[in-house]
Amino acid sequence: MSDDMHCYRDDHALYREVLHARLKAHEKHGDNSIEAEHPGSPRWLSILVEEIGEVANALTYDGPTGNLRAELVDVLAVAAAWVSAIDRKPATPYAEQETTK
Ligand SMILES: [Mg+2]
Repeated sequence: MSDDMHCYRDDHALYREVLHARLKAHEKHGDNSIEAEHPGSPRWLSILVEEIGEVANALTYDGPTGNLRAELVDVLAVAAAWVSAIDRKPATPYAEQETTK
């Protein structure tokens, strides 16, 4: 690894933290967990925007202090879960899946 990759060396711990956040959220939300959600579901964007809103709230003058980093990890966790859902490449399109429920 070259020296210009120095800034990435500690990212493995961050990725483990993101995975831990996904597992924790999955346990917390139970049947409403997004982990098995179809990548075409409209839930993804609303949940991601909700987490981004919590980042914005952490930056307001009267927002909760000290949790900006945790809120950013939540954003990463939702984004990572969404990418994983895309990578699973479900056999049926979302619209078709919804009509067969
Ligand atoms: Mg959050």
